[in-house]
Amino acid sequence: MSTNGTPANVGSNDGLGPCPCCGHAAAFDVATGDDEGGHFVACLNPRCGISTPLIFACGDDPKPLLRERWNRRKEADRAERRAVMFGDIVSSQVIAMRAAVVAAKLEGLDVGMQWIANTLCGPGHLPDLDEAKALGGAQALWDKETAEQEAFRAAHPAPGA
Ligand SMILES: [Zn+2]
Repeated sequence: MSTNGTPANVGSNDGLGPCPCCGHAAAFDVATGDDEGGHFVACLNPRCGISTPLIFACGDDPKPLLRERWNRRKEADRAERRAVMFGDIVSSQVIAMRAAVVAAKLEGLDVGMQWIANTLCGPGHLPDLDEAKALGGAQALWDKETAEQEAFRAAHPAPGA
């Protein structure tokens, strides 16, 4: 997308929040060339440069809608990053468990178990066996930690839930 250079309103943020990616100021701009007349909001940091999609105004002032879209981006991007992060965590756990099942079937239970232990060990989640034994074993550990997790979720409900 080519632009007409420096926006006229540099220095005033025009009600635009900071860039959701880099925190830099943003400004309204109008595209030229193939997208001639398309209005957009863009980050003023040349190393970032993210922008909203173009809006072609038919007589209406496109700024209120663009401002709303730009300012909503921050919340949306934050939620999206969180969703992607948790998706990555769940995916890596499921992939490790799948590899563990394959290893257990093809190479023996100990090898399969090692996959699970390695997955837990890295981030420091290997359970303390003496502590688990004192609790009453695997089922007791699961019951206790699930109850703790449910209590935490009850105290910290998901937004909108
Ligand atoms: Zn930026």
